[in-house]
Amino acid sequence: MFSSDYEHNFGQILIVDDNPDNLRLLSKMLESKGFKVKKTVSGEIAIQAAKIEPPDLILLDINMPDMNGYEVCRQLKSQEKTANIPIIFISALDQTTDKIIAFEIGGGDYITKPFQELEVLARVRNQVVIYQQNQQLIQQNKLLQQEIKERQRFEAALLAANQQLQLFVFLDGLTGVANRRKFDEYLNSEWQRLAREKLPLSLLLCDVDFFKNYNDTYGHLTGDDCLKQIAKTLKLSVRRPSDLLARYGGEEFAVILSNTNDKVAIYLAEDIRQKVYNLKIPHAQSKVDNYVTLSIGVATIFPNMQIAPNTLIEVGDQALYTAKAQGRNRIVSKNLMS
Ligand code: GH3
Ligand code: MG
Ligand code: MG
Repeated sequence: MFSSDYEHNFGQILIVDDNPDNLRLLSKMLESKGFKVKKTVSGEIAIQAAKIEPPDLILLDINMPDMNGYEVCRQLKSQEKTANIPIIFISALDQTTDKIIAFEIGGGDYITKPFQELEVLARVRNQVVIYQQNQQLIQQNKLLQQEIKERQRFEAALLAANQQLQLFVFLDGLTGVANRRKFDEYLNSEWQRLAREKLPLSLLLCDVDFFKNYNDTYGHLTGDDCLKQIAKTLKLSVRRPSDLLARYGGEEFAVILSNTNDKVAIYLAEDIRQKVYNLKIPHAQSKVDNYVTLSIGVATIFPNMQIAPNTLIEVGDQALYTAKAQGRNRIVSKNLMS
């Protein structure tokens, strides 16, 4: 009847009965099967004992003088620490007790005196196994919840780190503006969008004049500072959310102006040129002025999917080259709008 597997999986049982003979009989029965048994004749003591060391099962007599079994059960079920302990009610066969109430208030099963040993053991075994499995599930569930929480924390940290990394992947380390990679990506996506919407796209290529001389005169670190100041100034002019300012190369900045025609682009380029000039960064070895100046190539095009976005860069380069050739510190515009 009792498998050897089960015999190893003992439980702890608290027996509560005001009749010492019953206590002795039941505990002998259960101890012989390997259960650890505690016994008490008082409901109140049973409640205290269960709180201090919750057993795997309580065998609870219904008819007791001080506090009857129903009341003991109610109190056990009302406290978190003891609420889950299974209870098997005990009553004499000839006593008029209400089995329905016993189940309604949380009893798990019911045995009657005189005890049939095999039946008692079978019912006890049932309840203990269910309880122990339940406890295991609760424990596993707790561990799982903990694992889930830890994983969620880890994933959130990973996401944040990734987002940070993404930012760095697209940022120029020196000036904090977008880098060439971002520029390429954005130009391609805007090219497609504007081609669909049949809107113009302008590009400014801004190159510092005689910057090699600047480095040679003031040193590379001062050159870096100069580039940072220029980037900061360009940021002031490139304000629309659909515009992008990027460091295109060493001392060259590019501005993508979405949905912008050549007139507006030239106006913006002139604004940028002026603002940089107004920084009045001394440049003794510039052959064009005493201060740092920019030459700007402006290119405007109606993107379409038959031509590559690089075409716009080539046209901008040509315009920049012409600006350099014509004496620097100026703007030259080329458009492919017709
Ligand atoms: P041009 O007027 O024809 O543009 O002459 P340039 O001297 O500005 O042009 P060139 O291409 O000959 O030289 C560009 C210089 O920019 C050379 C390079 O050392 C400097 N440069 C590029 N990147 C950086 C940088 O990150 N920091 C500093 N300090 N200098 C840089
Ligand atoms: Mg250059
Ligand atoms: Mg230059």
